[in-house]
Amino acid sequence: MRESQVELCARAIAERLGPDSVVVVLTGAGLSAESGLPTFRGAGGLLGDPEFFEAFTADLLRRAPRAWWEIFQRLRELLSEVRPSPAHLALSDLEELLRPHLRLVIITQNVDGLHQVAGNRRVLELHGSARRYYCTCCGRPHVLLPERIVELPPRCACGGVIRPAVVLFGEATPHEVWQEAYAAAQRASVMLVVGTSLQVEPAASLPAVALHHRALVVEVNPETTPLSGAVRFSFRAFASHFLPLLVERLRGLLAQKMAS
Ligand code: NAD
Repeated sequence: MRESQVELCARAIAERLGPDSVVVVLTGAGLSAESGLPTFRGAGGLLGDPEFFEAFTADLLRRAPRAWWEIFQRLRELLSEVRPSPAHLALSDLEELLRPHLRLVIITQNVDGLHQVAGNRRVLELHGSARRYYCTCCGRPHVLLPERIVELPPRCACGGVIRPAVVLFGEATPHEVWQEAYAAAQRASVMLVVGTSLQVEPAASLPAVALHHRALVVEVNPETTPLSGAVRFSFRAFASHFLPLLVERLRGLLAQKMAS
């Protein structure tokens, strides 16, 4: 990745932005890779590990909740230790930078909640969050602190199994969140697509929606994806390297733009 290319991209983004513009960032597991959470696909992805794959199926949770929770506890442990990466922090800086005049919407496929930990306020979680829980029987929400889990699976006072509010394989994206994400993609002047292999629908179709509405779409991924050939800026780069550079460039350019 050449710095002059980042500069060119930052200029193109700044040119697109005007009063009331919407900037959308579509994120995937690659963004959290540098926080220490493994991705599904790409180098070192979890899909090579059948046990982890099972942890993401609704079928196993229904059939064998104890076995499901034993695998999921490993992910919970990872989650309790991770912190936002420089890429998450750059997106939080970007929201601050744009906030007086423009709107930043993050649409994430991640369930780790790290955008909110980093300070982003407008986050649409297409696949829910592993930081929220509810009873599969009565629907009551639960806060699950590690010391509250005495046996697996954890159960509600009504006897129902408690589960995380994540969308598992075999389940649909929540309708309301999807509607909001789709509307944001339609309105976007700029869309950054970061750390996603674009293999999971319906999220994978959002860049095409933005392109159809003439947004400037910028991709950041160390590997090529189905989007790479279709956009003007597709960077083979790590998010934690690229995003802080881009936000720094934008800071200068937007300050000039606001002053003129
Ligand atoms: P994916 O695992 O299919 O693809 C990850 C992509 O990130 C790959 O294309 C890879 O090349 C790229 N990548 C790896 N390191 C990167 C980096 N440092 N910077 C930028 N890009 C990098 O991920 P997906 O497209 O988000 O789809 C996977 C599904 O798995 C999602 O539905 C998500 O809910 C779930 N998932 C979530 C987490 C999480 O919450 N952190 C982790 C794993 C999987």
